[in-house]
Parts: sequence; structure tokens; C-alpha cells
Amino acid sequence: MTQVDVVIVGGGMAGLALASALAGSGLRIEVLEKQLPLGPETWSDGFDPRVSAITRASENILRFCGAWDFIESQRIAPYADMDVWDGEGTGNIQFHASEASVEYLGHIIENRVIQYGLYLACQAHENITINAQGMDQLSRENGTWLVTLEDKTQLLPTLLVGADGGHSTIRERTGFSVREWDYGHNGVVTTVETEKPHGNVARQPFLATGPLGVLPLRQKLSNEESHLSSIVWSADTKTAAELMAMDEATFNHALTVALEGRLGKVVRSERRFSFPLQQRHATDYISDNVALVADAAHTLHPLAGQGINMGFLDAAVLAEEVSNSVRRGLSPIEPMGLKRYQRRRKGHNLMMMSTMEGFKRLFDVVPMPLRLLRNQGMSLLNEHPIAKGHILKHAMGFAGDLPEAAQSA
Ligand SMILES: Cc1cc2nc3c(=O)[nH]c(=O)nc-3n(C[C@H](O)[C@H](O)[C@H](O)COP(=O)(O)OP(=O)(O)OC[C@H]3O[C@@H](n4cnc5c(N)ncnc54)[C@H](O)[C@@H]3O)c2cc1C
Repeated sequence: MTQVDVVIVGGGMAGLALASALAGSGLRIEVLEKQLPLGPETWSDGFDPRVSAITRASENILRFCGAWDFIESQRIAPYADMDVWDGEGTGNIQFHASEASVEYLGHIIENRVIQYGLYLACQAHENITINAQGMDQLSRENGTWLVTLEDKTQLLPTLLVGADGGHSTIRERTGFSVREWDYGHNGVVTTVETEKPHGNVARQPFLATGPLGVLPLRQKLSNEESHLSSIVWSADTKTAAELMAMDEATFNHALTVALEGRLGKVVRSERRFSFPLQQRHATDYISDNVALVADAAHTLHPLAGQGINMGFLDAAVLAEEVSNSVRRGLSPIEPMGLKRYQRRRKGHNLMMMSTMEGFKRLFDVVPMPLRLLRNQGMSLLNEHPIAKGHILKHAMGFAGDLPEAAQSA
């Protein structure tokens, strides 16, 4: 039985971000990850179908973690503008980086690039061990949790963290309750090539069947005139099944129509993947010696691309609170520190989740008068610089009780 300060179950983007953000605390950290990330030498030319819109606040956290240099050396795509429109009407809002006096609002990055950058960052610290094993059993031992690995090694953590994703075993086995509901939506994701270049604009029409996110990609870092985009087409289950069953030409045509030809014709699309979309929120993020971060604590509709951005903020705030406790000579599970983590993150995450839920409902099929109002509202908002500035601040991740890591580059 080995005593460890912090055991993080799950070495996805959030778990590795937490480990690297905690490195400076001097605590002994062990990350358990059943599927270690593979490096660029194993990556095909094609894009990872899972990409994320990373806010500027998350970029700062990734810099703080020591992962940004690697990430920046890969083919990441900055986006400077967002174009959101009502596919069922005339409502249209555009957001420009220049309205916030910045050069770009964020980057579109393949998940595997982020995860591998964080993995490299963790490897640079002697106090972090990444164990390529899953957790086999979890049991209670003298008031703490005993983690048994697949090879039967046993770890006794002072702090146990669930960073093991939406179907978190840690959350379930340590007795956290959760509120969840099925959106009745699936997200269909793929990479597409369009006739016209995307111009570094992230686009999102709200269609009758659900929102369609079109995120700019670059084949090469210097490729300003790229025609490649990653799409997340959220649609009711029936429509998503139809999209999945289409042959490539039919799918490309359906996407061209959905985008109203704004990128010209969709000339090519890669293999499609479909994910069921669920909203889930743990009623608590902490117990006496367990903490949940990122998707283990909350999942939401991908329509605003906020999932992992919220997760990185969780990781950075938890690392800040635990490090502060340790610096003051206290235990990493000092109750005030853990409570502050929950207080700082839960309110912000709830606000984000309810806003996204509101958006989703507003754009669900609604009666004609409400649709007219919705379109007028969008056009009015487009002319309102103060309200747009407020939304831009959220879109860049600079809202809520930010950890220091998110504020400074
Ligand atoms: C279609 C779609 C599009 C999205 N787009 C965006 C976007 O643009 N921007 C954004 O911010 N978010 C986006 N998200 C959300 C984002 O992908 C998630 O929030 C993010 O992947 C969660 O990361 P995580 O590290 O919490 O969990 P995961 O990525 O699920 O990682 C959990 C890790 O834990 C490991 N694990 C699980 N159980 C065990 C165990 N027992 N032992 C050891 N290891 C274990 C797994 O192998 C995995 O590596 C999107 C989501 C979807 C579905």
C-alpha cells in the first residue's frame, strides 16, 4: 500500500491539466490513465474528429501548465470572428475580435494535440507519475479511499480526484449524486473541405433540428486561406441517424444547404462519428477527501464549445486552492480550500449550463410569433456594443472568479 498525496483518476485533458497545474505545490501526484495519449509520430494526416474551441483564458492555463509551446507548434487555427444565425429566419449576430480590442478570440485545436501537450508537460515534473492503468477497485480504508489498480498495486491518496469523464466511476462509487437529462440530441462530427476559405470565422447556424457548429481548421500553421473545417452537427436523434446513414455526396449537399452556401459547396467530408449528448451536473464537487473536475462534475451541450474550457478552469482553481493550503502548511484536503474550490466553480458552471440550456430551448422549434421575436432580438443585439462586449468576455473565458493561471500569459 503506497501513500500518495494526490491520485487523479483519468488522464484526459482535465486530469493532466490538474496534475501539471499542481506540480509546483511539491505534492506527490499519481495520474491513472487507462489509454495513454500517443504522440505526433502516430498521427495520420487527417484531423482528430474531436476538436475544441479553446478560449484565451484556457490558453493562459495551458501556458501555466507548460503545455502551450508544444500545442502552438502544431497546426492550430486561431479564430477572430464568430457568425451566429437563425437558420429559420433572418436573425444574425457577428462577433469580431476587434470589438474586444484583441487579435483573436481563441483557437480551434485537436483534442489529441492538447492532451499530448499536457502529457509532455507532466513528464517534465519529478513529482508527477503517470500510470498507464485503469482503476480496478475502490474501497474505504480507515476513513480514506483505497485505490486498487489493475496490477493490484494499492494506493492510499490523501486527495482523490475524479477526472474520469462524463461516466465517472469515482463520482458513482464515492456517493456523489447527480442531476442528468438526455437532450434527445446526438452530435455528428467530421472534417469537411469547402469551396470557399473559412476566413478564420467560427460559424453556427441554429437549425430547426439543432445547432450546427463549423470550426475553422488549418492544414499548416501558416495556411491563412484554409478551406478545412471541423463540424459538430447537433441534431435530434432521428435526424442524426439520417445524417450518419447518408453517403458522402448526399451529406455534403445537406451541409451545403444547412450553411446556406456561405462557404460555397462542401466538396469533401471525412468519416462521421456520432456522440449522444447529455446534460449532467453533480450536486457537489467535493466530499471530505474527494474532488470532481470537468466532465466528471458536469457535461453540457457542445453548442457554445464550453465543456473543456469549464474543465480547465475547474482544474486551475482546484490546483490554486490545494497549493494555497499546502503553502500555509495545511493538508491538501483542508476543508476551507476544497469548499472554496466548489464555491468558485459551481456557480459559474451552473450559470454557463443554464445559459446554454436557454439558448437550446430558444432555438428549439417554437411558434411563429416567438420565432419573429427571436430574429428581431438577434438583430437588435447585433447593434448593441455593450451587450456584445459582455458576451465576448464570456466567449474568451474571462468571466467568473478566475484563477491566476487563467489571467496571465
Ligand atoms: C461533439 C462534442 C464537441 C465538443 N466541443 C467542445 C469545444 O469546442 N470546446 C470545449 O471546451 N468542449 C467541447 N466539448 C466537450 C469536451 O470534449 C469535454 O468537456 C472534454 O473532453 C472532457 O475532458 P475530461 O478530461 O473531463 O474527460 P475525458 O476526455 O472523457 O477524459 C477522461 C479520461 O479518463 C480516463 N478514464 C476513465 N475511467 C478511468 C479509470 N477507471 N481508470 C483510469 N482512467 C480512466 C479515460 O481513458 C479518459 O482519458 C465537446 C464535446 C462533444 C461531445
